[in-house]
Amino acid sequence: MSNKVRLQAVRDVEAYVPPAVSFIDSEAPGEIFGENVFNQVVMQKRLPKSVYKSVTATIEHGAMLDPAVADAVASAMKNWALEKGATHYAHVFYPLTGLTAEKHDSFFEPIGDGTALAEFAGKTLTQGEPDASSFPNGGLRNTFEARGYTGWDVTSPAYVLENPNGNTLCIPTVFVSMTGEALDHKTPLLRSQQAMGTHAERILTLFGHTDPEHVVSYCGPEQEYFLVDRHFFLARPDLLNAGRTLFGAKPPKGQEFDDHYFGAIPERVLGFMMDTERELFKLGIPAKTRHNEVAPGQFEIAPMFEKANLAADHQQLLMTTFKTIAKKHGMECLFHEKPFQGVNGSGKHVNFSLGNSQVGSVFVPGDTPHENAQFLVFCAGVIRAVHTYAGLLRASVASATNDHRLGANEAPPAIISIFLGDQLADVFEQIAKGPATSSKGKGKMVIGVDTLPVLPTDPGDRNRTSPFAFTGNRFEFRAPGSMQSVAGPMTTINTIMADSLDYMATYLEAAVTEGTDFDQAVQTLLTEIINEHGSVVFNGDGYADAWPIEAEKRGLANLKTTLDALPELITEPAMELFEKYKVFNHREMHSRYEIGLEQYTLTIGVEARLTLELGTTVVLPAAVRHQTELALNIGALKAAGVETDTSTLDVVSVPLAELRAALVVLKDALDDDSHHEALAEAEHARNALLPAMSAVRAAADTLEEIVADDLWALPTYQEMLFIL
Ligand code: ADP
Ligand code: MG
Repeated sequence: MSNKVRLQAVRDVEAYVPPAVSFIDSEAPGEIFGENVFNQVVMQKRLPKSVYKSVTATIEHGAMLDPAVADAVASAMKNWALEKGATHYAHVFYPLTGLTAEKHDSFFEPIGDGTALAEFAGKTLTQGEPDASSFPNGGLRNTFEARGYTGWDVTSPAYVLENPNGNTLCIPTVFVSMTGEALDHKTPLLRSQQAMGTHAERILTLFGHTDPEHVVSYCGPEQEYFLVDRHFFLARPDLLNAGRTLFGAKPPKGQEFDDHYFGAIPERVLGFMMDTERELFKLGIPAKTRHNEVAPGQFEIAPMFEKANLAADHQQLLMTTFKTIAKKHGMECLFHEKPFQGVNGSGKHVNFSLGNSQVGSVFVPGDTPHENAQFLVFCAGVIRAVHTYAGLLRASVASATNDHRLGANEAPPAIISIFLGDQLADVFEQIAKGPATSSKGKGKMVIGVDTLPVLPTDPGDRNRTSPFAFTGNRFEFRAPGSMQSVAGPMTTINTIMADSLDYMATYLEAAVTEGTDFDQAVQTLLTEIINEHGSVVFNGDGYADAWPIEAEKRGLANLKTTLDALPELITEPAMELFEKYKVFNHREMHSRYEIGLEQYTLTIGVEARLTLELGTTVVLPAAVRHQTELALNIGALKAAGVETDTSTLDVVSVPLAELRAALVVLKDALDDDSHHEALAEAEHARNALLPAMSAVRAAADTLEEIVADDLWALPTYQEMLFIL
């Protein structure tokens, strides 16, 4: 059979003994949950009462942080961390690379007599100054003002991260420039949260909640990922460097049997999952559901929903933990949206709701008519927001890697629409016509607000093809990529919701002031919104060929690639929106746009160079050797007077010539340095590099099915996907 490198890899996989995991018998999950977190329980025990109260007011009610408490918190945090074996502390932040950055400092400072003392003052806790010059800033910082600051985010608890070589106290922070402009994902998320909360509270007040509690957004991200044995992973420079395979013929057996989804989880993978869950539990991350996904080698984890800011931090921590633990189990965890062409890709569904501990989720259809009206107002807010700012939602999930999935077959299409489910869609269809009566479903459906029927909590059906779906007590934004932070999409959702809620609150407040009957005003408002924005509601099959045509008729945009989507960030209305709600100023919006382009170009640039290198040094030589063998064979046969068929030689010679030609085109495209503007460079990447890479790949994949297996050095799809 196989090439000797690959054969050895297969043998090594077979011989591999994963580490034993004893989750159940050693520690009960309940006991270790939050063990390494400086959470409110720990704070209550360790902080002076007044300090604890002040910090809690900030965490729970969004009150301004009192700088005077920092020293007391820092001291308690330090002592707690030292007891947990920490030697260092790190300000953790989320730069626009999408990764997590941390700067480690030792607690211990020499005190001049040859000894050292553990020091950690309030000002060290609240502010840090990492060397910011190597993080993307999109023109927000000039080189002469390269400083960046991290600021303590008290709403996301500090934690101790264990490491065989010593533990570290990690402090979640925002990351801003000297002028206070956001260089990270967390700052805008916190700002947007504040804006959304303010206007949601106005709506709640209108519905009779006197002095409503602070409204927050909740987020439950479902993370899909692949696991690949590291023996194969290390033999694939493309996976190693680009996170996805740039070559690889489709395996004879793919996912067509549907035999993986929800199937029994392989033992080795289960060990990995238990191990990750134990670590996540210690960090206070509520890992809950786990199962196989559609593709072979693909899995999913869904932690319980939390406040959006915390969920975003936890999501980043989850990805880091998965990577580390997969290695420990001899596997590599792939978060790329499309590691294997022709095989199902990975997404990160962002389930979200708005609410607080008083009202729960505002998207729960209540069981009194009064609450239903409130529910319908919030739902109408979502419909209006998604319709008005579909382009921004699309831009919030745009990346070179997600482009392989969005708009492709198995993922939600790039057209942003809303799925409401039969019940809710029906209610809104009636609202569109004004106060109508109907009897669909259980009760009598009278669409005067006072008499709105009780809606069933369970919408009954699910639609897996919609990018934005109502799922009974929340909405699910299904377009985010598996690799990206949920902070970006959540920032957009919060901001566009702030706009809708502001609009509706203003309308209703004015109506109340003018003495209009409140119920009547709500009815009129709902009718107006659904008539103006109802075209974004689509309950059909989003994967059907008819949908893009229908969507176009409805005036819904189909922004297929990142470069179609990114300009949405710098349209006048978008910049006005973000400025109005103090989430981004114009400069910050431009910087996000620039960084988006830059990341896009960098990603495709790396892939193109890898394609050229592997095509030239791995694929081409294998094909040439194969061709030579065939030619020698034909020559030998002829010499021996045996009649021979030379067409076998053509079978390899044709794709080989194609490969050579495609490599030349790719090299020329890479050498072309005539593009200087960020947009022109990105367009060159999309219009020249991507097609050139595809051509190289097409020829190489054809060759993979022809060239003698012992000459083929790259692990195949079959091996990577099915041997675990
Ligand atoms: P499914 O695969 O059926 O969509 P999962 O159980 O895999 O559902 O994941 C659902 C996610 O939605 C979980 O993270 C869950 O905590 C989250 N979720 C549930 N209720 C809410 C809510 N009210 N707000 C936000 N997220 C929620
Ligand atoms: Mg799911």
